[in-house]
Amino acid sequence: MFDNLSDKLDKALHILKGHGQITEVNVAETLKEVRRALVDADVNYKIAKEFTATVKEKALGQNVLKSLKPGQLMVKLVKDELTELMGGDVAGVNLSGNPSVILMSGLQGSGKTTFSGKLANYLKNKKTKKPLLVACDVYRPAAIDQLHVVGEQINVEVYSDKGNNDPVAIAKAGVAHAKANGFNVVIIDTAGRLAVDDEMMTEIANIHKAITPNETLFVVDSMTGQDAVNTAKAFNDILNFDGVILTKLDGDTRGGAALSIKSVVNKPIKFIGTGEKMEAIDVFYPSRMADRILG
Ligand code: GDP
Repeated sequence: MFDNLSDKLDKALHILKGHGQITEVNVAETLKEVRRALVDADVNYKIAKEFTATVKEKALGQNVLKSLKPGQLMVKLVKDELTELMGGDVAGVNLSGNPSVILMSGLQGSGKTTFSGKLANYLKNKKTKKPLLVACDVYRPAAIDQLHVVGEQINVEVYSDKGNNDPVAIAKAGVAHAKANGFNVVIIDTAGRLAVDDEMMTEIANIHKAITPNETLFVVDSMTGQDAVNTAKAFNDILNFDGVILTKLDGDTRGGAALSIKSVVNKPIKFIGTGEKMEAIDVFYPSRMADRILG
């Protein structure tokens, strides 16, 4: 995960990590390399520039050059700033409703159906939660079947209504079914498109309005880099979602989405997907991710 970024940051910070003399010149050089590493990882240039400006300011404020271990202090400053960039604190999912309604949004192929299953399984394992999955993709019968397959794998009931082509009605009926049958979490899987279009946005906005979810999650494929950030912005403008799910972090992803999304939409990454299996879900801890990136 983020191997390339880790290598480049390590190289950039190497100059300062050793015992050689640290000067304003090599701090500036290092920060330039840090910025380059971030941009290569697909972090937007403006964000990367702000990042190094903040680190520089803090370094000056803490008088890094005169500190006992300037190299280590710089590494810490970069690590703290990476943590901040990815959201600072860990953010949970709002499960206060009864049932708690969680709406999934995102493009087709981002991993919504898979993540719906993972989240249902994760919550079911918490014992106090009894989740219901609701299939609202009315365009692709295969998508409904896929959710049923997932439901069977994890032993969670799936509500669907094949033939009904009104996703708002299905979502509402799904929530009613949950209420009538003692489910305390409802996870609504919706239809995505290959790219942002008005029809999809209107549909998800209508579902959102009709069921007023406790939690709206935006699912995005981390392999899509800057596109992930642009898509997040488009969905957030319409839904004002509560959190981001970053999928496919097990692949050869450069890191840009993880590092940029928070500062663009100001919403936390809540979970990550790290594989196709139902167990491949992790709570997102910004500080642990920063530790991992800096090795
Ligand atoms: P949806 O169209 O948004 O519902 O996306 P799907 O859930 O159908 O996922 C699309 C593809 O990505 C499927 O082949 C999934 O198995 C795969 N996938 C989903 N999440 C992950 C993940 O975290 N890691 C990997 N490697 N594959 C994933």
